[in-house]
Amino acid sequence: MFSELALHDCLLKATTKLGYTKTTPVQQKAIPLAMTGKDLLVSAKTGSGKTAAFLLPSLHRFLENPAPNSGTRALVLVPTRELARQVVKQCEQFAEFTTMKSAIIIGGEDFKFQKSMFRKNPEVIVSTPGRLAEHIDAGSIDFHDLEVLILDEADRMLEMGLIEDVLRITKSCNPQRQTLLFSATLKHQGLNDVIHQSLKNPESLVLDSHKDKHSQIQQQVILADDYDHKDKLLAWLLEHETYNKALVFTNKKVQASRLSGLMRYKNNRAGMLQGDLSQEERNHVMGLFRNQQIDVLIATDVAARGIDVDDIDLVINYDMPRNGDDYIHRIGRTGRADNEGRAISFVTSFEWNLKAAIERYIRHNFEKRTIDGLAGHFKGPKKVKNSGKKASDKKRIDSKDGDNKDEPKNKNRRRDRKNIGKRRTPTEKSGSGKTAHTRSDDGFSPPKKRV
Ligand code: ADP
Ligand code: MG
Repeated sequence: MFSELALHDCLLKATTKLGYTKTTPVQQKAIPLAMTGKDLLVSAKTGSGKTAAFLLPSLHRFLENPAPNSGTRALVLVPTRELARQVVKQCEQFAEFTTMKSAIIIGGEDFKFQKSMFRKNPEVIVSTPGRLAEHIDAGSIDFHDLEVLILDEADRMLEMGLIEDVLRITKSCNPQRQTLLFSATLKHQGLNDVIHQSLKNPESLVLDSHKDKHSQIQQQVILADDYDHKDKLLAWLLEHETYNKALVFTNKKVQASRLSGLMRYKNNRAGMLQGDLSQEERNHVMGLFRNQQIDVLIATDVAARGIDVDDIDLVINYDMPRNGDDYIHRIGRTGRADNEGRAISFVTSFEWNLKAAIERYIRHNFEKRTIDGLAGHFKGPKKVKNSGKKASDKKRIDSKDGDNKDEPKNKNRRRDRKNIGKRRTPTEKSGSGKTAHTRSDDGFSPPKKRV
């Protein structure tokens, strides 16, 4: 219960107004610890309520120790603009009954206007690293008074190539500050640098492995032959499934554009979210989706990062995500805060191995589903008979005629296991800070765009 957390009355009033009564496990554990002033490393799955877990103890601390002449007291760094908006909105809601102010500093908005926001001296700044680093370079802000630094979705910032900026920012912050790092996983090798350089004797809280199955999400696969078959399956599902809001993922931008056109043609109220949209277009689409003016959103992974729309109850993977972590992030968009959801993935013969690897990674086998009248030819790989054959046998049953292309290759298993969940290429940063490519475009280059 929130009332048992010894939070300031103004904050309890706000949580009650928001309808928060029970704390989520990460809030239950992280809030009291953060209130002691310790540095924390926290991993908990998407949708588990991490935002309140770092905002509430920070706001509490500021209410207990007023510092009217202080500069910025808390800085929250997040990977995407969308997420920054959501965090600042939550902060405003929690601070409603206080005089504390928050500000958002993200790319794509007027630099001079942002400078004027600093002069108002907000207690909390929520920002994406690229733009904030530019402000620090330009001398428009300093964080010498900072009391709490929060790195939210640190794994995503790492994957998006933003860590250099993050480290530059953390170096310029008050060394006496408290640092709270949140991540879906703490096992990311690249995080070690950030942890060593930004945190002091942190306490680790591993709430639940990010691999834990989302028990309230039904996870299904439908076998598909090709794109044409997938189009038919998608149209059928959008017409016949029961849902409030559906989020459809593709791996490529062109595919997202094509599908949103096709689904609109088939009388769906569909919109599209992909990395090329301007901030204004993006806000417009998100607004339509939030207000239920459209109920289908077709998105690429990068564009969908940080989406927090409460009542998404159907996620469709038109393309299988490229790794286990992306799968977890995609399905985490549904079933938030214990709502029920369904995730349906289309799997062609080319995606079979990926599906199997993701199942191993999340330790959960998908439920197989077929749709009457739309069953394809691909039924999964044929059974391999191992009866007494040695692994070294050249004549493998599954490949002797060369016609069994759908068969998963057992010989690659070890490598599969090692690499699943990891990015395919090291993240590297572009000198210019501007690149047209994002990982979801070509599948290989990490996004390097400043946000
Ligand atoms: P995470 O950052 O872990 O992915 P969020 O902080 O975005 O999760 O929270 C997910 C959703 O759950 C948000 O809509 C949030 O308002 C809601 N939520 C968080 N904590 C609670 C709570 N204790 N009671 C009810 N809803 C909550
Ligand atoms: Mg979050």
